[in-house]
Amino acid sequence: MAEVAVVGSGPNGLAAAVVMARAGLAVRVYEAAETIGGGTRTAELLEPGHVYDVCSAVHPMALASRFFREFELERRVALRLPEVQYGTPLDGGRAALAYRSLERTASELGADGAAFTRLMGPLVERLGGVLDVTQNQLLRMPADPVAALRLGLATLEQGSPWWNRRFAGDAAPALLTGVAAHAVAPLPSLAAAGAGLLLGGLAHAGGWPIPVGGSVAIAEAMVRDIEAHGGVIETGVQIDALQELRPAKAILLDVAPPGLLRMAGAALPDRYRRSLETFRFGNAACKVDFILSGPVPWAAPGLAAAGTVHVGGTRAAMAEAENLVAAGRHPKKPYVLVAQPSIVDPGRAPVGRHILWSYCHVPKGSTTDMAEAVMSRIEEFAPGFRDVVVGWKTTTAAGLAGYNANYLGGDFSAGVMDIRGLVQRPVLSPVPWRTPLPGVYLCSSSTPPGPGVTGMPGYHAAKYALKDMFGLQVPGLGLGR
Ligand SMILES: Cc1cc2nc3c(=O)[nH]c(=O)nc-3n(C[C@H](O)[C@H](O)[C@H](O)COP(=O)(O)OP(=O)(O)OC[C@H]3O[C@@H](n4cnc5c(N)ncnc54)[C@H](O)[C@@H]3O)c2cc1C
Repeated sequence: MAEVAVVGSGPNGLAAAVVMARAGLAVRVYEAAETIGGGTRTAELLEPGHVYDVCSAVHPMALASRFFREFELERRVALRLPEVQYGTPLDGGRAALAYRSLERTASELGADGAAFTRLMGPLVERLGGVLDVTQNQLLRMPADPVAALRLGLATLEQGSPWWNRRFAGDAAPALLTGVAAHAVAPLPSLAAAGAGLLLGGLAHAGGWPIPVGGSVAIAEAMVRDIEAHGGVIETGVQIDALQELRPAKAILLDVAPPGLLRMAGAALPDRYRRSLETFRFGNAACKVDFILSGPVPWAAPGLAAAGTVHVGGTRAAMAEAENLVAAGRHPKKPYVLVAQPSIVDPGRAPVGRHILWSYCHVPKGSTTDMAEAVMSRIEEFAPGFRDVVVGWKTTTAAGLAGYNANYLGGDFSAGVMDIRGLVQRPVLSPVPWRTPLPGVYLCSSSTPPGPGVTGMPGYHAAKYALKDMFGLQVPGLGLGR
């Protein structure tokens, strides 16, 4: 019997398992689905030879998260950077484009270039400090107070009704809002601004890479490492009760609060149980994956080289769409997040073909198929788009919820991304990964720092499990160890 049981093989469960196995402990990972990876699974789409990411596709944190840096992910997985990290189409065949070079980005933003640099430059300069704030429990002393102050001030500005204060044109605000809208939150809001500034800053540091072969390459690299250190992964095993995992001394759960409630039952103290019962889930996504007979015919030429495209028009139009979702409605003109993996990884589709990954936000629990609205929105900025569409597959928010127990109602963040949801994740505590049950830890994105393929919730949970249960510290995780 394993000393350490991990439930769930999403990036956070696998990160926790890597840390525990590297510490020399006997680790066993249990995954309910038939395949590993959680939100990093890759599969064939509609026809053989078309390889798409079921959930995550683009990985701004792959080069930046502390866990992935210590794990040397970059040396284990082929990560490709597009020429344009992300872009936003605007009317008249224009686009705002973010390159790795902040100077080049600013130079194409015209009169607002200098204002954009004054906003982003100080954050990019102290990105380590920004990551320290955003990749830990928010309620702690920042390692770099100057970076924390800069992030705080920029967040206050971009998260307030004065967010246009420094800009004259529409390109820079649209560029920033396209990233902020990842947060599935009202616009403007502090949570969206913070997420946008972090992700925007990462574009000008390591960039937003796309793994060759799909996101599963990240999960596979972790599985290889776990197995090389004696760990075992079992797929097709759904865990319903913690007793199934005893006598494991440490249990790490890559599950959302309802999963812990189900597994722990009456064993949880009342106060903690009530906190889990009232944990708030946010709005959701409707995903539409396409097979194309050629590249997207974007009116703005620069977008052909963009790994990610935020289709939603101006800042005001994106805000209108996101605020409708926040009010529980389906926008007719949604904000659409588009990834073009086959432009940097041509092996994802047969010669001449492309795959296109997209989703838009919808109210939680939605069963609405947004494919028509998504296609119309892309067509607006890429006339002739429908002519290159060979086929598509929709996964509604309800479909996402059925696919992964952690995405309640289709909330792929596994918990609301507002300030309260960030700080109280799932409870207000300096160590929210610990549960009141000895040896039981939560390590999913329902704990800090929240969603995204970062491995950090798993890393933090494992760090405390090692210390509390075995008196050990996080071991070296790199290739040479
Ligand atoms: C459509 C979509 C697009 C996304 N795009 C991006 C992106 O481009 N970039 C990015 O960084 N992030 C993206 N994300 C978010 C990212 O995928 C998640 O934040 C991340 O996968 C969370 O990791 P996790 O390990 O916490 O949980 P998950 O990846 O959700 O994994 C949890 C695993 O636990 C298993 N499990 C749950 N309960 C049990 C149980 N009782 N017994 C056994 N197994 C169980 C589940 O089957 C699942 O495999 C996207 C998500 C979605 C859905």
